[in-house]
Amino acid sequence: MSDRRAERLEALRRRLASDGLDGLVVVSLPNIRYLTGFSGSSGLLFASGGATVLLTDFRYREQAPAEVGDLARVSTETGGAWERLLKLLPDLAGVHRVGYEAHVLTVRDAERLARNGAKPWTFQPVADVVEALRAVKAPDEIAAIRAAGAVATRALEAATVGVRAGQTELEIAAALEGALRRSGSEWYAFPTIVASGPRSALPHARTSGRVVAPGDLLLVDFGAVVEGYCSDLTRTFVVGAEPTARQREIHEVVRRAQGAALAGLRSGLTGRQGDALARDVIAQAGLGEAFGHSLGHGLGLEVHEAPRLAQTAEDPLPASAVVTVEPGVYLEGWGGIRIEDDVILQTTGAELLTEFPRELLRLG
Ligand code: ZN
Ligand code: ZN
Repeated sequence: MSDRRAERLEALRRRLASDGLDGLVVVSLPNIRYLTGFSGSSGLLFASGGATVLLTDFRYREQAPAEVGDLARVSTETGGAWERLLKLLPDLAGVHRVGYEAHVLTVRDAERLARNGAKPWTFQPVADVVEALRAVKAPDEIAAIRAAGAVATRALEAATVGVRAGQTELEIAAALEGALRRSGSEWYAFPTIVASGPRSALPHARTSGRVVAPGDLLLVDFGAVVEGYCSDLTRTFVVGAEPTARQREIHEVVRRAQGAALAGLRSGLTGRQGDALARDVIAQAGLGEAFGHSLGHGLGLEVHEAPRLAQTAEDPLPASAVVTVEPGVYLEGWGGIRIEDDVILQTTGAELLTEFPRELLRLG
């Protein structure tokens, strides 16, 4: 992956300057990774016009300098990171108004800042500053998500071959997670969802010990991670029997809804307009009430990030944003069907980053 960290920090500085801020305290770990390359599980980043300082701890005294290089000063000394940051601020010339990530910081840490907000600094809550930069993907980030999509597809191909009625959801998830690792996934994008029969009507079902019966729907939602970037893929199958007319009918509605969104999505639409492309198809089929979540979410270093395809999202979708397209229909007691793919948005349309058959397949 080409090194865009200096470019990203520069874009952050321009944004801070236009907001009248002299610096930003970054506490979100994906944001820290995006800006500096540091992938540890604990750290604080301070970025101002004149200084970039990463404060972490002893555990990372080798990893942090290796990952960050000369992009930032790295502090791994003993003592709390916040205490070290507050000690450091007086040495930084021209730093008076400092933003902090209000959507990530704990109340306790915000109070700690407020206590130290006596002159000469003022601390100001800001939100989604780095996230807005992250919403627009560079070509190498898109390539990583595409690679994560290909890993997920390979894993699903491998795992579905062995699916049979009589297995538990957990057994099927284990096969899929093993296949993910063997296909090159660094980690799981999120806990794998395998939901069968009536449980598939729970959009965020937890995988359980339920035994899959012949004729059950089987909803599988999972993702791979490549170079820190996530993919997110859902397919719904029928296990051990030919699909019923009702299963085919509902699946076809979801597939048409997704097809309409894939055909119509592009940057420049609002998130609400994007969501409506699929929602209208489901509503016209009389199933509007059964599609209770939004159409999609941004995807990158995190599995849920900006922008959103949702009825409440009024901002235009930026070009080069990566989003999921995941309509679903959930009927309590019967089951649910969702189809999810990942796309990159351009002014001319949406390009698929995930490929796996979208028709209703029988397994076992
Ligand atoms: Zn998903
Ligand atoms: Zn998703």
